[in-house]
Amino acid sequence: MIPRIRIATLPTPIEPLSRLSAALGGPSLWIKRDDLTGLAMGGNKVRKLEYLIAEAMAHGAQTLITLGAAQSNHCRQTAALAARFGLDCILVLSGEPDTVPEGNLLLDRLFGAEVVWTKREARETVFQEVFETAWQTGRRPYQIPLGASTPLGVLGYVTAFRELEQQAFEADWMVTASSSGGTQAGLILEARRSGWKGHVLGISIDHPRRELQEKVAGLAEKASDLLGEQLLFSSVDIEVNDGYLGKGYGVMNDADAEAIRLFARYEGILLDPVYTGRAAAGMIDLIRRGSVFKAGEKVLFWHTGGTPALFAPPYSQQFNQR
Ligand SMILES: *Cc1c(COP(=O)(O)O)cnc(C)c1O
Repeated sequence: MIPRIRIATLPTPIEPLSRLSAALGGPSLWIKRDDLTGLAMGGNKVRKLEYLIAEAMAHGAQTLITLGAAQSNHCRQTAALAARFGLDCILVLSGEPDTVPEGNLLLDRLFGAEVVWTKREARETVFQEVFETAWQTGRRPYQIPLGASTPLGVLGYVTAFRELEQQAFEADWMVTASSSGGTQAGLILEARRSGWKGHVLGISIDHPRRELQEKVAGLAEKASDLLGEQLLFSSVDIEVNDGYLGKGYGVMNDADAEAIRLFARYEGILLDPVYTGRAAAGMIDLIRRGSVFKAGEKVLFWHTGGTPALFAPPYSQQFNQR
């Protein structure tokens, strides 16, 4: 048994998107509400962090250190987790230092995280430097890589897939936002292990297809090693669509905003401007083209969280303008 500390509120609900399905006239759409995982406004990182915090506590860690964008959901969930376990938290964030913190950043501050600002290009280097300083000053740091997408973190989505089976939910497709790759890797690994015949489609948020496929395949393999199975994955096993990258990470475009609005107005569900809005925009475009999903098929959309970013500029202002 690989140690895991239970934090998330599980199982998360599965709900039909009846009005949205009817409006789009395509396959039958369902949603897995991982925005409701519970810790500090939820999201997918909580499932991965259940495994990482178990390792951190076993090592006697006193400080969690991680990195991300200024509106990182992963950083917000890590900061909350640190507070819950009485640990210090240092976040290495790329972006401009905030004057008035909003969205996730407001929550990072509320949870008492220390923030170190850096440029995007220097983020990994600064992350290492901050770790070394913390180590040398006796703060017993535990490093959590981008998005908690380590082989151990991937197990969070192996478990999530099993949860679906326990909920007796059958789908032909799963659609998820995919960025640091851990979520998709976990789903694909357990899909293989269970012999499921459907498709796990990752809508890339910020990477060219080939790059993300390799990343996800590598993570799935290493997670499989942890489970003692050494399953092999190659790029062709990983379904990725990179047609929705737009102007890049965190830049909300019209299609992303439309998807957010459709989920809000047809279902009363809040997506986010960076990940789920883009993944939903991709899914909706593919439905409209009629090229991927067949009539009568069941498509499960993973709501991986991120809602707090809606309340931060520039996103909040972009909605205000429309
Ligand atoms: C991090 C994140 C993702 C991407 O998950 P990965 O495991 O990094 O691919 C998707 N949605 C939200 C809201 C996230 O915060």
